[in-house]
Formats: sequence, C-alpha cells, structure tokens
Amino acid sequence: MKGDPRKRGFSTRAVHAGQAPEPVTGAVAVPIFQTSTYVHPGLGESKGFDYARTTNPTRTALEENVAALEGGHRGHAFASGMAAISTLMTLVHADDHAVFSANVYGGTYRFIEQVLDRYRVRATWVDTTDLQAVQDALQESTKLVFLESPTNPMMEVTDIAAVAELASTVSATVAVDNTFMSPYFQQPLDLGANVVVHSTTKFLNGHSDSIGGVLVTDSEELSDWFAFVQKSAGGILSPFDAFLTMRGIKTLGVRMERHESNANAVARYLDQHGKVAAVHYPGLEAFPGHGLQRQQSTGFGAMISFEVETFERAKTVLDAFEVFSLAESLGGVESLACHPGSMTHASVPAERRAELGIGDGLVRLSVGIEDEADLLDDLGQALDRLD
Ligand code: PLP
Repeated sequence: MKGDPRKRGFSTRAVHAGQAPEPVTGAVAVPIFQTSTYVHPGLGESKGFDYARTTNPTRTALEENVAALEGGHRGHAFASGMAAISTLMTLVHADDHAVFSANVYGGTYRFIEQVLDRYRVRATWVDTTDLQAVQDALQESTKLVFLESPTNPMMEVTDIAAVAELASTVSATVAVDNTFMSPYFQQPLDLGANVVVHSTTKFLNGHSDSIGGVLVTDSEELSDWFAFVQKSAGGILSPFDAFLTMRGIKTLGVRMERHESNANAVARYLDQHGKVAAVHYPGLEAFPGHGLQRQQSTGFGAMISFEVETFERAKTVLDAFEVFSLAESLGGVESLACHPGSMTHASVPAERRAELGIGDGLVRLSVGIEDEADLLDDLGQALDRLD
C-alpha cells in the first residue's frame, strides 16, 4: 500500500505495517533474510545492517508491525515470551523493588522467584484487581509494576489505567502482559502502560508452530535499552520465526473474532451445565471483571477456565475430549485444554495455587476457530462422563 499504514485501521495495519514490498524484486511478502552477517561496501561504511544478532530485516519488519498494532514507539522481538519477559526484568537492579500481579503465568512466577530473586530484587506479589493493595505495595524504590490482565488462568481483570496512574506517583515503569487479549482486543499503552509484553507463541502467531516474544515500548529511552539487551544478551527471534509470526498476524482480526464468538458460546454452555461448579470468563455478565473488561478492552478473548471440583473429575473430562487437545499453550487455531495445577502452573507451589484459586478441579480452555457445534458437542460428551 502507499502512505503510512500506522494511520489506518487495525486490520490494515496488521497486513501492511512494516511490510513494504522488498526493494529489489517487489516481493509482497517480507523475505526471510536467513543470514548471520552483511557485507560492508567499504571500511567504515554500512547499509544499516552489521550483524544479525543486532538487526535482521525480517525481524525488524515484525517489530514494526507489532509496534503499529499496539500503538507503541518500537517493538523488540525475542526467542520466546520468557526471553522477552527476562529482558523486561533487566529494568530492575539489586535492591530495587518491583510489584507483580499475584496471578501470572507459571513460567513468569518461576523466573521472578527463582532467577530474579538471586539478583536481590525485592518482589511484592499483589492482587492488582485491588487498587488499595497496589497503592499500599508501592514504595519509593519501586521501579517496575508488572501485571497480566486478564490473568492466566483465573481471568481476573485489573484496571490498567488506574494502576498506571498509581505507579506514576513513584515513577515506576508499568508493563502489561497482553498475551491473552492480543492488541486486537486490548492496547495497554493507550491505557497508560509503558511496555507491552507478548508471548507471540499464542494469538499473535496463532498457528502453534513458533515460539517467540515481543516487547513494545512507549519511549525511545526504553527501546534503546531493550535493543541494547537484545544485542548484548542475544535472545533474539530467528528470521524464520519472525516470518511465521508476521504471516499469522495478517489474519489476527478475523481469527480473534471467531475465537471470541466460539468462546462466548462455550462459556455460556459451561455456565448453565449442572456438572460445572464455576466458569471464569470476563464475557459472562456475572463475572466480577466483566464491566471493567468492557470498559478497557474491545473484547473478552478466548481463554476460559472452569471448575469440576476434583483432580479425578478434571482428569475424566480432559481425557474424554476429542476435539479439544490436551496440551499446554494457547492462542492457536486449534482448541486446547489443560490442567493448570499440574501443567502450566506446576511451578507455583501448591499452597500458593490454592490461595489464587487454582484448584485441582480447574480446567483451562483455549478456544480455537473450529465449528462451534463441534466444540459444544465435545464439551457435552466429556462432561457426560462425570457422575
Ligand atoms: N505470558 C503468558 C500469559 C503465557 O501464557 C506464556 C506462556 O504460556 C508466556 C508469557 C511465556 O511465553 P513463551 O512460552 O513464549 O516463552
């Protein structure tokens, strides 16, 4: 397209931002620049690319694309969501304080408790849905506030703008893991956050065939630092994975619409089912975060968790699924189901899981884009196995 895609609508940006035709041939798809280095025209001269750990045109195209979708300054792509999150954590140093939302992805919890802790960073875990608790947790030395909204797997919704406002009183950087919503439904930088985190492995790539992560910033200063860490620590996304992720993002809007309409039907089906004790999905009117989610996002996404009381009952349902596959991860076109207590959140100690409500009878669904009727049939036949 001609002109600046950043001035266009979401799906136009998804297809075109960072995707200018390749100058030599006009190739419409950004090529995979599978190279480790670039020849210099002469000593002291460069075409802007020196070594592929620092920059690669395929990765740059993806970074520009995601930055345009999140309305950010710049994007930085990493080898995984955790590589992006560990780069984010370089913002805190020994004796700094950081606030984390109590319920985060199990791998994020493990990184903070077992890696960051060795660097003497002081972490406070807070129920960020409780603004008074956030306010009480903030200190003069708080450098970072990190949250997920909605959380994995309890789907709790935090008021991002209100937390950003509170954090600004101590000049802390606010980072939001936006993996569950994708920029199609939620743009945390617009709500006052400074950094958006994604595991691109999930909805952004959307096809369960790549592991990756991105950070999108709201400032040159943060971007300069993250680009420096990309170059220095080297946890970068490969050109091939950048290509796959861009290819996935082009259909993000259409996929998210379908994911969500299926999820809405699944959540309502589970909600009225006599063998389901509770359903956690912000799209349900009675869910505590429903109103807030409606206010700060344009959708409710496709992640649902529900309770069937015991581990044995969860196992019966999970083993019986035919269309839903029993697997970790989420956000792909295929529907997945998992048992957070023993899978995605196994690295969170049992007492803490219990405090967060991640019980043995909790099942998490990532609702895909298959036919709605097949998904409801599958849930029905699996729940029928329960007494
Ligand atoms: N953030 C969230 C919300 C996740 O669910 C995950 C993985 O499941 C991650 C981050 C980590 O991403 P990755 O597996 O790409 O390292």
